[in-house]
Amino acid sequence: MTQTDVQAQTASLAAAGVRMLIIGPPGSGKGTQAARISERLGIVAISTGDIFRANVKERTPLGIEAKSYMDAGDFVPDSVTNNMVRERLAQADVAGGFLLDGYPRTTAQVEELDAILAAGSTSLDLVLQLTADHEELVRRLLSRAAEEGRTDDNESVIRHRLDLYTQQTSAVVKEYAGRGILVEVDGIGAIDEVTDRVMAAMARVIERQA
Ligand code: AMP
Repeated sequence: MTQTDVQAQTASLAAAGVRMLIIGPPGSGKGTQAARISERLGIVAISTGDIFRANVKERTPLGIEAKSYMDAGDFVPDSVTNNMVRERLAQADVAGGFLLDGYPRTTAQVEELDAILAAGSTSLDLVLQLTADHEELVRRLLSRAAEEGRTDDNESVIRHRLDLYTQQTSAVVKEYAGRGILVEVDGIGAIDEVTDRVMAAMARVIERQA
């Protein structure tokens, strides 16, 4: 695939105003790719984890409510999370498309997102899942922990986090795969190379839907 192909694919995706989710294990480069996709496609990136963290920092009522759950490593209750997402998706900047990160995390949230979008007469175009060999992720996360001096991030902690990711995402991933809107892309490789793969894979799905 040439760079001209990638640029053409990116331009047609940007024109489509894509509504999408990104899912990926820790260490897969999800945050980096999310930022690039949102910039290239001109769609707003919405990370529920980032919104919660910002609210905790600002000590807003939402942040105060969410903090104890986040500190315990639990999910914030659906009543709180769903309302937050509904309000965010009602804002004007979402009209041109969006990239949601960190939501939905359960099948109940999948249904809620369906309802939120249906109320605005829209729906999801695609769900991007960055995949990666878990042994490679363990190596990456271990070397990152060593570089950053995070000694509590040992191999068993990292493996546990990856197992949790698989457990928590499998039902959601299966649901979207069943709808035919799941796009799997190998997240291992140079950052630019992965972005090109993402754009090509997304363009194929959007073309199929057109
Ligand atoms: P993240 O950065 O996506 O891992 O999110 C950080 C924390 O925010 C999570 O551990 C949860 O406590 C909370 N959170 C983020 N997204 C959700 C969600 N969809 N449902 C429930 N809790 C969430």
